[in-house]
Amino acid sequence: MARANAAYYAGRDPFGAAGDFTTAPEITQAFGECLGLWAAVTWVAMGRPDPVILAEAGPGRGTLMADALRAIGQMMPDFTRALRLHLVETSPLLRAAQRARLPDAVWHDDIAALPPGPVILLANEFLDALPIRQFVRRGGAWMERFVAGDAFVERPAPDAPLPDAGEEGEVREVNEPALAIAAALGARLAAQGGAALFIDYGPGESGPGDSLQAIRGREAADPLADPGTADLTAHVDFTALARAARAAGAAAHGPLPQGVFLSRLGLHSRAAVLAAADSGRGARHIEAATRLTAPEAMGRLFKALVLCHPSLPTPPGFEAA
Ligand code: SAH
Repeated sequence: MARANAAYYAGRDPFGAAGDFTTAPEITQAFGECLGLWAAVTWVAMGRPDPVILAEAGPGRGTLMADALRAIGQMMPDFTRALRLHLVETSPLLRAAQRARLPDAVWHDDIAALPPGPVILLANEFLDALPIRQFVRRGGAWMERFVAGDAFVERPAPDAPLPDAGEEGEVREVNEPALAIAAALGARLAAQGGAALFIDYGPGESGPGDSLQAIRGREAADPLADPGTADLTAHVDFTALARAARAAGAAAHGPLPQGVFLSRLGLHSRAAVLAAADSGRGARHIEAATRLTAPEAMGRLFKALVLCHPSLPTPPGFEAA
């Protein structure tokens, strides 16, 4: 599955009207603007380190970061001057798209390759693209599901990274690269300072279930058909990631539903300003903000999780209701 998804992103630009799926930054510029202001407030809470690394993992077309930098430039020029832009991206095609919009960035293949120092990291729909392992409980033991040709097969998995317990037929998913990132980032943030904001979709609590999905042309597709031509994704287990980061010495806040998070950051006010300035087409800005925040759309399934240095105050948006 890992190889299939790397091939998928290496071979195409999947976003936007003609693509396989659309993401929050492609729905409205207000999303990246709000995240830019989140980063600016976080920078002030960190004591305005200069220089500071502003990083994004899996930046897609670079839309989120372009919108964030514009908002930062308007609201906090000191942060603009202090920040050094670093992007973590493996797809050569998407790197080229990012370079066109963010020419001053430095690229890396891996979060671990970011230079040392205080960091503010943003990542939208990055973790769900990392490969998962799927296990099924059979006869009191874990079996692992593999793709063989065009079918799933199950093989005994005595090494399953799971407690040796579960209901017959129960499916568990483990995203080992995401857990490794949370642990390494947790240690780095605790030692060198900073904060990482992850937005993705998944449940508020860890639990069993098969969430592997293939998406092609905006529709659910067979995950086994034509490897490399559909986006493979799975729900993100935020609770497990928060636990891994805390065990490494960082603080974790969330997961918080995206609708709550973005509303508290002022998404609706920003959408109203954009609507007022867009004569005749104002309604689309309001509709976009509703799509990102309404519970029946993207507001509840999508969540925000922050990992940060333990001395930082509660991050913007995460204040108790
Ligand atoms: N954040 C963007 C794109 C999300 S799609 C948006 O919200 O629109 C996932 C992104 O992660 C793509 O840019 C993809 O190429 C990148 N990606 C996938 N696997 C990766 C990996 N292992 N390392 C770095 N980037 C990866």
